[in-house]
Amino acid sequence: MNENNSADSEGRVHTFTVTADPDPMVRPLPMTLDQALDYLHHGVLVAPSPEFPDAVNTRLASAAQTAARQCAKVPAAATQRVLNLLDVAVKAPTQVQRVAWHRRAADALSSAFAPHAACRAGCSHCCHIPVKISAVEARALGKAIGRAPVPLAEHQPASVTGYNSPCPFLAGGRCSIYAERPAVCRSHLNMDEDALLCELLPSGAEVPVPYVDTRPLMAVAVLIAGEPRAAADLRQWFPEHLLGQRPRRAVPCPPPFKIQDENHA
Ligand code: SF4
Repeated sequence: MNENNSADSEGRVHTFTVTADPDPMVRPLPMTLDQALDYLHHGVLVAPSPEFPDAVNTRLASAAQTAARQCAKVPAAATQRVLNLLDVAVKAPTQVQRVAWHRRAADALSSAFAPHAACRAGCSHCCHIPVKISAVEARALGKAIGRAPVPLAEHQPASVTGYNSPCPFLAGGRCSIYAERPAVCRSHLNMDEDALLCELLPSGAEVPVPYVDTRPLMAVAVLIAGEPRAAADLRQWFPEHLLGQRPRRAVPCPPPFKIQDENHA
């Protein structure tokens, strides 16, 4: 996986990012692995744009190289362990076990890459972008936290408007379900030098962030999704008004990022 974070001949960094999906609504996941990989394989072009502030464009000129350098620090054995765990996930006899092994694979990826990533305790930018999970993962999460997810047929459109629409589980700038958070949250790591590129722009323009490549994780998530093969946003599975009142004070990453604590719950 680490070599996949190198820019290709067209300058694209192959990462999967939930923000790259143009449709934040419920959409069916691909039905085959080939389709899944095709869907996930779009990559993001980590390149400057007139839409972005100067500081962002300056950073984008070096971010892909920074990410490749940081990813290269991860031993091959660590990424192989992720793949091994995914193999176990696919072969597990029950859907509950498949989800649990998939989550372990996401944790293994996080353990390997997080020490070299920009992500730090108290940073919650990525809790303000779409966070899509499958029905089976929503059910597993609901069971763990004692809240049944809203059935797919009853979902309301997801409203994701930057810092005005945090994940319903974000409380005081921290994840209130950290131990049970979805696999996508565990593996969502910015491999740049700090969180500058994660900061959401008031214009809504999407800055390409060199996230760690999670295509194997996403492909297996599709494989084990079961029926219905659909993904929806956490805000749709667990609407905030059904979770009760939570503090909604977003705490952006204050640079410099000195705290290094994986257990940022
Ligand atoms: S579940 Fe937790 S980590 Fe994931 S987006 Fe929500 S608050 Fe953030």
